[in-house]
Amino acid sequence: MKQSVSNENIVEVKNLKMYFPVTRGLLRRKVADVKAVDGISFKIRRGEIMGLVGESGCGKTTTGRCILRLYSPTEGQIYFNGEDLFAKRSKEETKKLSKEIAFIFQDPQGSLNPRHTAGRIIGEPLWFHNLVQGRNEYEEMVDRLLTLVGLESYMKNRFPHEFSGGQRQRIGVARALASKPSLIICDEPVSALDVSIQAQIINLLKRLQKEFNDLTYLFISHDLSVVRYFSDRIAVMYLGRIVEIADSLELYDNPRHPYTKALLSAIPIPDPFLERKRERIVLKGEVPSPLNPPKGCHFHPRCPIAVEECRIKAPEMRDIGGGHEVACHLV
Ligand code: SF4
Repeated sequence: MKQSVSNENIVEVKNLKMYFPVTRGLLRRKVADVKAVDGISFKIRRGEIMGLVGESGCGKTTTGRCILRLYSPTEGQIYFNGEDLFAKRSKEETKKLSKEIAFIFQDPQGSLNPRHTAGRIIGEPLWFHNLVQGRNEYEEMVDRLLTLVGLESYMKNRFPHEFSGGQRQRIGVARALASKPSLIICDEPVSALDVSIQAQIINLLKRLQKEFNDLTYLFISHDLSVVRYFSDRIAVMYLGRIVEIADSLELYDNPRHPYTKALLSAIPIPDPFLERKRERIVLKGEVPSPLNPPKGCHFHPRCPIAVEECRIKAPEMRDIGGGHEVACHLV
């Protein structure tokens, strides 16, 4: 574990369920639920980078949005700094809480208001949270934030369309940092960018985390190779459930869940000799619909080692030592 990662939990998610009703007819009668998140529990320690990975539609973005309080969970609790995120609060308390959790979106183009200048986009949280006293301090802070993310202060008068994709994401990072949050939820922050730019943004996020003491990231990605060198710990999601959580190195060296093994086997190895020897685990079929997930272990229709019990009973998450948790009957 990194030295700056504390043992204190900044986020604790307990049995979180987020179902979206599917309705039909004029009366909007509920006919089913899309079980986007189906009973997950995990903790994020202060100062760590927690990776949340899985294929598209597995519920990772919904989880991030629940922590941001954009969705109100169907069931379960989320604690932030020990406080229930969904407890009743006064306006002032809600504002204080919103200062603490920021978000970086996947699409830097769509997430920035095209009619606002970069300076205004970055500066909005400063006014909103009363973090500056007057115009001079405001301008100074915007300049500082621009420099911090590798942009020049003269760029503050430009509009989003005048920037490249990578620069737009830097503006998104600066806006997220403006309120000095303690947690930033990064939802696929590099997947819309060229590979060369992806590395720059990841390095930027890493550097900023070192500069801002105790800053914590929840890094959501469909790509295990992106989170590999970036995260301290990784949680793997499949069809609304977490199937494995471990320290990053442990997960890569010693994956235990058949789904994690399959995901890892799909990552190309840069060494041509090792790449030729790489054994790819190809899963049969497609990910089932979250409208009607399989009974028992959600992964059983595709699992190469499934047994009868897997079709009947959902496996619980179990710690198999050193904080490595797996949900599989056979591990
Ligand atoms: Fe495969 Fe069964 Fe383990 Fe699920 S519980 S991953 S189906 S072996």
